[in-house]
Amino acid sequence: MKPKIWLSSPHMGGNEQKYIHEAFKENWIAPLGPNVSGLEEDISKYLRQDGKENIEVAALSSGTTALHLALILLGVKGGDEVLCQSMTFAASANPIAYLGATPVFVDSEEDTLNLSPKFLKDAIRDRISKGKKPKAIIAVHLYGMPYKVDEIHEIAAHYEIPVIEDSAEALGSSYKGIKCGTLGEISILSFNGNKIITTSGGGALVTKDENLKKKAVFLATQARDEAPHYQHSQIGYNYRMSNICAGIGRGQMEVLDQRVQARREMNTFYRKIFNDFEVATVHNEPDNDYFCNHWLTVVSFKDHSANYSAEGLRRHMEKENIESRPLWKPMHMQPVFSDAPYYGGTTAERLFQNGLCLPSGSNLSEEDKERILKSIQQYFK
Ligand SMILES: *Cc1c(COP(=O)(O)O)cnc(C)c1O
Repeated sequence: MKPKIWLSSPHMGGNEQKYIHEAFKENWIAPLGPNVSGLEEDISKYLRQDGKENIEVAALSSGTTALHLALILLGVKGGDEVLCQSMTFAASANPIAYLGATPVFVDSEEDTLNLSPKFLKDAIRDRISKGKKPKAIIAVHLYGMPYKVDEIHEIAAHYEIPVIEDSAEALGSSYKGIKCGTLGEISILSFNGNKIITTSGGGALVTKDENLKKKAVFLATQARDEAPHYQHSQIGYNYRMSNICAGIGRGQMEVLDQRVQARREMNTFYRKIFNDFEVATVHNEPDNDYFCNHWLTVVSFKDHSANYSAEGLRRHMEKENIESRPLWKPMHMQPVFSDAPYYGGTTAERLFQNGLCLPSGSNLSEEDKERILKSIQQYFK
């Protein structure tokens, strides 16, 4: 059997161990320490448009915990409703349930695979008419593709509902030159093992408000009041990133631009291949306003093509030890969320049925690419 080609695997830059070594040397093994503040500064610098803009970053244990804290900071409580893109990874929606709030799912549109402005508006109007104004909107840049930022934020501003920008998959992407991760009232990033860069496991909360960052760090470190003893007047969490993980992150930030470049090249590679086949299209930026890190490249098959399908290609590649994966199964189709309200049509459902994520790692070799190319060509023979 040939070695496995993974969908998306960690890709170290080289300096990660240097930062970890420093942590060992200084005995900064406990959470907090110079790598944590160093990583926060690195991310902030990367996201800032000009030197002046204030971008505050709180390094946390995961993207999921960052979303949980973002919801708390926006005042979401039990019984509230939160709008959420249906087509996404479950981690976008689970933190709503942690708080005893109800997710209200919204369909996608085809250009970006993300929140449909039309159905978002329908959902907001209908929930308000039922007497419950949603407390927040969770908008996702799926597979690194920015959502329709102007339209979504215009709707959000009109109804005065804050946007939590789930940028877990979109570090390195931008919209009209503005970096993803800075577009929301609060934004979150993920450094899980399969993301564009990794800390082995980790995430961050990003905000322009210094006080919000302070509050996030306070809640993430067990909500300790200022006192020599341990005193608490609020429920806290143990959500901070460790100094060891942050060391990996510092090494990874040094090579982020290279990783984005390599993933974008994978997308070009696939577009060339699928140009020859009528039945399937590779997703790409709708226009020049969008810059996608192409964390994962997505190919969509036409409805009802007789001989070819996403699942057919997946199985074909699997036989050759090449990993590919269906798109995220929409949340309104998940058993665990079967009671949650949903606004939309069948776009997300069709995208799920017809789409496939192809191996997109920044560390795929020429030999890997050759195997992938042959496998796809063979499938269409
Ligand atoms: C990965 C991911 C998350 C969660 O991040 P973790 O660091 O794995 O907790 C949230 N939303 C989306 C869209 C993701 O892909």
